[in-house]
Amino acid sequence: MENEKYDVVIGLEIHMESKTKSKMFCSCLNNPNESVPNTNICPICMGHPGTLPVINKEAIDNIIKLGLALNCKIADYTKFDRKNYFYPDLPKGYQISQFDYPIARDGYLEIKGENVPKLIRINRIHQEEDAGRLAHDNDKTSMVDFNRAGVPLMELVTEPDFTSADEVVNFAKELQLIARYLDVSDANMEKGEMRIEVNLSLKRKGDKKLGTKVEVKNLNSFKSVEKAILFEIGRQSKMLDNGEKIIQETRGFHDVKQVTLSQRSKEESHEYRYFPEPDLPPLEIGEERTSELKAEIPELPSSKRLRLEAEYGISDYKTIEMFADNKDFAEYFEKVATEILNWMQHERIEQNKYFELIKIAVNYLTSDLIGLNNGQIIDFSSKIDPENFAEFTVLIYKGDISSKMAKIILKEMYDLNKDPTHIIKDKGLKQIDDISEIENIVDEVLKRNGVAIQDYKNGKTASFQFLIGQIMALSKGKINPDKAKEVLLQKLENI
Ligand code: ADP
Ligand code: ZN
Ligand code: MG
Repeated sequence: MENEKYDVVIGLEIHMESKTKSKMFCSCLNNPNESVPNTNICPICMGHPGTLPVINKEAIDNIIKLGLALNCKIADYTKFDRKNYFYPDLPKGYQISQFDYPIARDGYLEIKGENVPKLIRINRIHQEEDAGRLAHDNDKTSMVDFNRAGVPLMELVTEPDFTSADEVVNFAKELQLIARYLDVSDANMEKGEMRIEVNLSLKRKGDKKLGTKVEVKNLNSFKSVEKAILFEIGRQSKMLDNGEKIIQETRGFHDVKQVTLSQRSKEESHEYRYFPEPDLPPLEIGEERTSELKAEIPELPSSKRLRLEAEYGISDYKTIEMFADNKDFAEYFEKVATEILNWMQHERIEQNKYFELIKIAVNYLTSDLIGLNNGQIIDFSSKIDPENFAEFTVLIYKGDISSKMAKIILKEMYDLNKDPTHIIKDKGLKQIDDISEIENIVDEVLKRNGVAIQDYKNGKTASFQFLIGQIMALSKGKINPDKAKEVLLQKLENI
């Protein structure tokens, strides 16, 4: 959305819950699905005096991996700092965070821009710990659950490089995907495993100096992020139009009213009285550890998209996204593709037909198979052996089964995990290809439908479709539809 008078400037602060066995500084379980409050707690994460924190190596590794995936520089030297503030779910009265030496900094992520790709610069990614959670009952009683207190958080801060809600959502979705590929966070926004804070300001078109920013919190879905941005652009434009000054503050997004509401004027960082954490040593991250972790990084979504296109000739954008978004499903597809190559050799199908077969496989995978699975996109290996799916593809390619039969066979394959040739035999589903057999069926239908023939002769083209329908029905859907049409046309001409 273009604004005529103002440039939109947005920067993000994103927290992601790090996926680790234990919490950040103690050996309590980090289990986001623990439903009984205050189960995974101990004197350390409860902030009792005299306890000592110990750094969780797995959490640090997660940040290093995320940093490497986002083209960041990894610090040789890093340390922890106390960020002091009071909140009822923060028993220590401070959070252990990182102030001046973040683990990762100066990276970037390429996203889809308006027309061309755009680089979003990443200022830093640092380690934090989560606070507990408050629950309010009837506005009378407040309860606190410390299961989440001390869970490792990765905080990522971008430069103010975004100019629209679309760019922000594209970035956030790509980041979520990367975190999942790396298995460093599940990053579900709805579960609070990924929390996005939007910093937004406006400036007169062409101005160099940035305007005063407002920070928006409580965004628990991509939709809310988009709505909050659009609302803030509208609100701030109106204020500036009226000559009002924007005040630097934190606002919360109200999901029901779809507006942002002022929560508090923004504190400056010096108000937290950051100081080096006296109970933890600084960390030196060696070159060796960094390169070890680099070797563990799997293929990332951006490379996967390019490879799928090059290797399988998939050009449809939606299909590529479906595979990029669903790693397991994509792996299943690639197994099918390998099996298709084997079948092609076996059936002496020319190599240059590979993309044609892939196209058939992709069509049935992305529409029919997912349909059979109630729209759930999964790794189908346990449902249909990739080898059987490849054979199914080859049968369709060779014209041995019609698209109508294909649907029946696929359902049987899905329900019973049997190979298609067996199903065809068991159900007597083989396509009727034999010309004399086809002629017999067509003759029978013509004999029964004198009126339709007359209508066709009088120029009613719909009658042709009607006759084809009768032929398909009489053959129980088994007749080769192209050949049936050809025969019918010929016969009608000679009547
Ligand atoms: P603060 O010290 O107030 O937290 P930072 O410089 O740490 O500010 O930036 C916090 C976030 O706000 C970053 O994502 C940054 O990109 C973004 N940001 C900074 N200045 C602006 C601005 N004028 N307009 C919009 N976003 C901004
Ligand atoms: Zn603990
Ligand atoms: Mg800040």
